Amino acid sequence: MDDQLSPRIRALQELAREVVEAHVAPHAGEVDAQAAWPAHSMKAFAEAGLMGLQVPTPLGGHGQGLVALSVLTEAIGRACPSSALCFGMHCVGTAVIAAKASPVHEERYLRPIAHGRHITTLSLSESGSGTHFYLPRTRLTQLDDGFIIDGEKQFTTNGGHADSYVLSVAPANGESPQAGDFSCVVLDAETDGIEWLQPWAGLGMRGNSSRGLRLTRARVPAANLLGEQGDQLWYVFEVVAPYFLMAMAGTYLGIAQAALEATGLHLRSRRYAHSGDALADADVLQHRYAAMWMAVEKTRGLVREAAARGDAGHAEALPYILACKADAGDTAVQVTNDAMTLCGGMAYRENSRIAQMLRDARASHVMAPTTEVLKLWLGRSLLGVPML
Ligand SMILES: Cc1cc2nc3c(=O)[nH]c(=O)nc-3n(C[C@H](O)[C@H](O)[C@H](O)COP(=O)(O)OP(=O)(O)OC[C@H]3O[C@@H](n4cnc5c(N)ncnc54)[C@H](O)[C@@H]3O)c2cc1C
Repeated sequence: MDDQLSPRIRALQELAREVVEAHVAPHAGEVDAQAAWPAHSMKAFAEAGLMGLQVPTPLGGHGQGLVALSVLTEAIGRACPSSALCFGMHCVGTAVIAAKASPVHEERYLRPIAHGRHITTLSLSESGSGTHFYLPRTRLTQLDDGFIIDGEKQFTTNGGHADSYVLSVAPANGESPQAGDFSCVVLDAETDGIEWLQPWAGLGMRGNSSRGLRLTRARVPAANLLGEQGDQLWYVFEVVAPYFLMAMAGTYLGIAQAALEATGLHLRSRRYAHSGDALADADVLQHRYAAMWMAVEKTRGLVREAAARGDAGHAEALPYILACKADAGDTAVQVTNDAMTLCGGMAYRENSRIAQMLRDARASHVMAPTTEVLKLWLGRSLLGVPML
């Protein structure tokens, strides 16, 4: 399927694979074992010029869209899912800033991102609204010369390590927020009034530093507001959702691909002393391995189709984009679970690579929009029922 990618995206994929092999894969075990944010991966991506994937070319970036994002997160997720999540959320934050960037946003954020000197990320989730991330309660109060932000975010990937955070905030005078009744602002890391909550210690995705963020009278310049008032549903459906869903679909597809490869290797190499037969000689295991391969290839086909439709502005891109993260999550969980069975006791060892993949894959179903909510939205969009 890679041979259908454009030469430019093939070259970026090749570069990402080289960086992953040299700098990311060797440390993936430590990232998981120590729940360590992958600074080495982000540095390597920056040095290779990959951090500006979503920055327009006139500003020094690659000017790429959804296909490149899904291809690169897949390449990274195959070796270190936490690194793919950190890189992916940086790319989503970048795409949100770039969507309607002012000259200030270009100089302060997008050029430094393109030159590998700035990491950003997306901070939408709150405990009050959970998976319904489009209903923030973090409040934005307008002052003469800017804004004050008060509230609390949960699960911010790259939390405490990024240079800026793209936040969703509701107007302070609103009663209870309506879907889309919010603004997006960029918060600089050094802003007074920011407090990072507990360090991240998850079942999986252990290196992504997904942390709570308390904001107490945090002052943000007026120039840091993204887009115009009333643009926000446009942001959710045109930028946040497609870029986020594609970054996650690529990451979980990468996990599924890695589990498939590890299983193939084990089935071929594990031989019984009494017969000399390999596991690969058993009919049932051949059959189950075929089903794993089919699931991975079907998911890759859906992800690539969704990304291509999104980049082309195809009128029917939305159902594909909604489906691809839900499907990649289902495939990653199913294939890593099958890998755990087919690779036997080797996989069931404490902290085996397959155990790590299974734990990482499980994050897909709880990351908003969750698998449940995506299937709900997909059904509604196919049936012509309003999604929200
Ligand atoms: C590893 C990781 C990284 C993350 N990174 C980020 C990040 O960078 N930025 C960010 O903003 N957020 C991030 N999140 C947060 C995430 O996107 C979700 O907001 C969060 O996980 C929701 O958790 P919750 O427990 O509040 O869900 P809840 O809202 O309590 O939902 C619990 C379950 O109920 C289901 N559910 C709820 N309502 C419905 C419904 N109407 N129909 C069907 N099912 C429903 C959900 O699908 C879910 O399975 C991250 C989360 C994880 C796990």
